[in-house]
Amino acid sequence: MQSKRGRARPPHSAAPNEECSDTMTDTADLTISGRHHRIIDLPAEARTSLSRLPHILRIMLENVLRNAGEDAPQAKAAILNWLETGRSEEEISFLPSRVLMHDTTCGPALVDIAGMRASLAEAGHDPSRLNPVLPVDVSTDHSLGVDVSGSPDAVRLNMEREYGRNAERYRFMKWATRALTGFRVHPPGTGIMHTLNLERLASVIATAERDSVSWAMPDTLIGTDSHTPMINGIGVLGWGVGGLEAESVFFGMPVMIRVPDIVGVRLTGRLKQGVLATDLALSVTERLRRIDLTDRFVEFFGPGVSTLSAGDRAVVANMTPEFGANSGFFPIDEQTLRYLHETGRSADHVRLVEDYARRQGLWFDPEASPRFTDVVEIDLGAVEVSLAGPRRPQDRIPASQTVEAMAPLLAARPAPASAEQPGNGSVAIAAITSCTNTSDPRLLVAAGLVARKARAFGLTPPAWVKTSLAPGSPTAERYLRRVGLLEDLEGVGFGIVGYGCTTCIGNSGPLPAVIEQTMTERGIVPVAVLSGNRNFPGRVHPQLEAGFLASPPLVVAFALAGNVNRDILADPIARSSSGKGIRLADLWPTGAEIDAALAMAIDARDYDTSYAAAEASETWRVIDAPGTSLFPWDENSTYIRRPPFAGFGKGTLLGSYAAHPLLVLGDDITTDHISPAGAVPSRSEAAEYLIQRGENPRDLNVFASRRGNWEAMVRGLFTNKSVRNLLDPAIAPGFTIHVGSGEHLPLFRAAERYASEGASVVVVAGERYGMGSSRDWAAKGVALLGARAVLASSFERIHRSNLIGMGILPLRLPEDRHPTTLHLRPGDQILIDADPAAISPRCSVPVTIRRASGTAETFTAIAAIETGLEVETLCGGGIIPLILRRVINAEVTSRGSNAPQITGSGDDTVMSGWRPFGNVRGYP
Ligand code: SF4
Repeated sequence: MQSKRGRARPPHSAAPNEECSDTMTDTADLTISGRHHRIIDLPAEARTSLSRLPHILRIMLENVLRNAGEDAPQAKAAILNWLETGRSEEEISFLPSRVLMHDTTCGPALVDIAGMRASLAEAGHDPSRLNPVLPVDVSTDHSLGVDVSGSPDAVRLNMEREYGRNAERYRFMKWATRALTGFRVHPPGTGIMHTLNLERLASVIATAERDSVSWAMPDTLIGTDSHTPMINGIGVLGWGVGGLEAESVFFGMPVMIRVPDIVGVRLTGRLKQGVLATDLALSVTERLRRIDLTDRFVEFFGPGVSTLSAGDRAVVANMTPEFGANSGFFPIDEQTLRYLHETGRSADHVRLVEDYARRQGLWFDPEASPRFTDVVEIDLGAVEVSLAGPRRPQDRIPASQTVEAMAPLLAARPAPASAEQPGNGSVAIAAITSCTNTSDPRLLVAAGLVARKARAFGLTPPAWVKTSLAPGSPTAERYLRRVGLLEDLEGVGFGIVGYGCTTCIGNSGPLPAVIEQTMTERGIVPVAVLSGNRNFPGRVHPQLEAGFLASPPLVVAFALAGNVNRDILADPIARSSSGKGIRLADLWPTGAEIDAALAMAIDARDYDTSYAAAEASETWRVIDAPGTSLFPWDENSTYIRRPPFAGFGKGTLLGSYAAHPLLVLGDDITTDHISPAGAVPSRSEAAEYLIQRGENPRDLNVFASRRGNWEAMVRGLFTNKSVRNLLDPAIAPGFTIHVGSGEHLPLFRAAERYASEGASVVVVAGERYGMGSSRDWAAKGVALLGARAVLASSFERIHRSNLIGMGILPLRLPEDRHPTTLHLRPGDQILIDADPAAISPRCSVPVTIRRASGTAETFTAIAAIETGLEVETLCGGGIIPLILRRVINAEVTSRGSNAPQITGSGDDTVMSGWRPFGNVRGYP
């Protein structure tokens, strides 16, 4: 490595000949393997402060210096001033180098884009001007279901169903690859988005050409999925955002954030023999969920970090949304480089990563203690073999305590399991699934070794257990097969069913018939045991209320046991063919056994080969799609319909008004509760709508694949059977009482009625409203119901941002008010005084409840708005009108005053000086 320093204007600058001034940024040249790269000189810029900053802020500092133009000195000062208290109220703009999406979040975004292009054309503008300025990678992973398992043909048959069900959606995605620049789709079979990101897309240090100069910079991204921080495990800063925020970023707006609180998690010691990364991730989740990490970033530091492989770290980082933070960041070190080597990155590239990180102060020092907002200590040596459940990921238990954990659910339901038939606690689904635990070869190899030993004893799972293996990467098949472990897994029922989200997202397919029958006849409470990251009731399967999260080898063990009604660490799991009681200790591999199998299994060349084969899918290639810049809508489509909100809108929803509470909800309403992802129930408003339009009643597909059809989606809102509308205990899920007529109506019908009457509506909710996945449909749906505001005790970060993206004002209730104590009843009205001119981040908003009885009470809510851009979005009526106005204003600038003009907020002021590195793409 050679390095040379200088002072130069970074590439966004509009005045290259100006003398050095405060706006000049220190740059340097880095020469690696004969190639020169320009870099922002972080050590020169931050000087002695650099080593005191958390790595996350070092990366943010580089980002603002490279991108923020004339605002860079101010942003730099904001970051360095943060060191005084570990907190800041100042905003900076963060400009990721790329965007990652999956098929079910990309679909709604594409429908928005197609609608926006249509709106532009109708207003006399060139629709093709609406184009991403950043590269967008889309993984097609979220709709694959486990229709077939335990068959050698399972992958083929499930993929056939996948293409059969989703042909129209896939044609639409293919249209996007033709109509939009920089938009790349990875077809079904290329694995789960976060595994794909780890193994293929992430470069850790990216390079890009700008004005004939090669720049090197940290790889950064946003993803429209809450588990995007998995990539933090290899030192890449990225986090999950809603689809609407992603749209704004790839059309040219930065992510505006307050210089964040950063919680340092100091790891000491090392994991004990037999304890795996999953156990650590569940322990970290349990520990960190006890503190409020909303809008905060987490960074791991301390000597324990060096004892963890990059695979271990990625498992922990994956569960960032479960512990409630924006990130779970691990800096770059030797383990990162080893991972890059093992996954087939070139030697030159790995050298660039090392040299850049060492040169820029981004190399991890296990002895260092940077400044953090708060510090939490975790001793790796205290982590034990664990599960989490039966209803929340943060409810970790020692693996021995499943009986105690199930007891409260079973108190009034005596239906014991036996060796012959399922009962309470029987394992209905045992799934090795999810990016969380199938991306780390160590965990899959450990599962294979348990399967191998089980086969040697002649063990197989009882007939009522539905077993499946759905790795995040097509490479897994190669390394497991190389050492015979795939055969062992197949021997105990864990044959591969496909490469996608499957059971983790709830596409677990039908339950075994004997389970369904026993549930109907005896009311048993079976469970799922899965290597996923969420186990909310109904998440894994709509009929399952209980689920345990566990490492892949523990999933195999519980499948063999057939139920969770035992101490898995001490009691026999099953009897061998010779009648001997086999315990977990007889099956569990030692660390040395795992290491030996891994050494034989892993071949770095597999990654190129497997992905190239999956990307070359002939089924994908032959999909035909239009090549027009405007999407040709099909009036008969039940998948893709032009959404009413993808246009210029009617202006802001802010103002002073009286509203009916459409829904009053309790705590922990997740985005799953608001807008389901799973199967469209055969008896539902959505089913009726689809069947009337010719759909097969036996295969209505899942809501996640219907997100391009707002009319189907609006009928599914809040229909989850555990959602209660507190307005009246007699209201069924998905219904409300229409004031005036007193009728119980489906929510969308009531919303239509109120809209026709010119009445405003709001939603009221309790703590953690909108927790769970990042789906923007949860906010779009509430917007379609006509809600102008959501009043909640607290909001989950991404959903809060999605609400603002739809122009809906999120309001925090004061601590002494809660939906259960407000006693709202049909006929009560909520008066909100949210004058657009008075709205600012975290401002007070007067709220009055005017009871039907004639009494009234007033309190002050706080606007859950964090940034000036969010204020602008609300004042402009949402992110989509804002984007459209920006496109038009840019067109006006380039075409002169003859072009049609749109006035109002949403001009280019936020973006002054920014030129994104639009050609930055991850590896390869
Ligand atoms: S967490 Fe589950 S649903 Fe989300 S990307 Fe990973 S596998 Fe898919």
